[in-house]
Amino acid sequence: MKKKLIAGNWKMNGSIEANEALVRGILAGMSPGFKDTPCDVAVCVPAPYLAQVQALRQGSALDLGAQDLSCHDSGAYTGEVSASMLKEFGVRYAIVGHSERRQYHHESDQLVADKARSALAAGLTPIVCVGETLAEREAGKTEEVVKRQLAAVVHTNGHCISEIVVAYEPVWAIGTGQTATPEQAQHVHAVLRAQLQAATAHADRIRLLYGGSMNAANAASLLSQPDIDGGLIGGASLKAPDFLQIIASAAAL
Ligand code: PEP
Repeated sequence: MKKKLIAGNWKMNGSIEANEALVRGILAGMSPGFKDTPCDVAVCVPAPYLAQVQALRQGSALDLGAQDLSCHDSGAYTGEVSASMLKEFGVRYAIVGHSERRQYHHESDQLVADKARSALAAGLTPIVCVGETLAEREAGKTEEVVKRQLAAVVHTNGHCISEIVVAYEPVWAIGTGQTATPEQAQHVHAVLRAQLQAATAHADRIRLLYGGSMNAANAASLLSQPDIDGGLIGGASLKAPDFLQIIASAAAL
């Protein structure tokens, strides 16, 4: 069985003081012996705090993630952070194509695919986010949208896609408290799994996360769906007890 992955997305939140309390709280709840549980855990933190969280997590089973990266390797790209720089800070995962970046920074499907390629080339695991807006869902376009978003990543990355993580995050569920039902989420996950199966013989080892108002109360029912292999968690990852409860739900499955 695949290990579930619970990844926190802190977004643009935190401070040196708050991060220390949060990470220490998570680590206290994860130890001892957490390495033996069937669940991977990561926190995707703002870039300036990577070094701090890297130091705090040393020797633990908590993995480190970034929230974005450049599609370029190096050079005159002011403000950007490359995959190899992230790698130097012990980063294992990099979120790409979060809906907030697609919406506020106009990231295209192709740019997201190129970012996934940069991550893979540096040995990072991209967490590729896909998801429809409310208007797209109401227009019956959910499958068309998520398949188009994932197709760009598949096309650009070929056989390497067996190394990615995909996060289905309906935009209408992100930060709204309005979670997709387990059945709605499972339906889209099955569509994505079928698309990956058509592209690679190793699709079954690709983890498909659900994201969108996952919390301590609804995690177990979402995570028990057959094609939901973990969660990408925003708001609830900022409170150690809530995040730990989601981890416990995943570890219990
Ligand atoms: C996210 O930002 O990826 C997310 C899922 O946020 P929230 O859990 O707050 O909806």
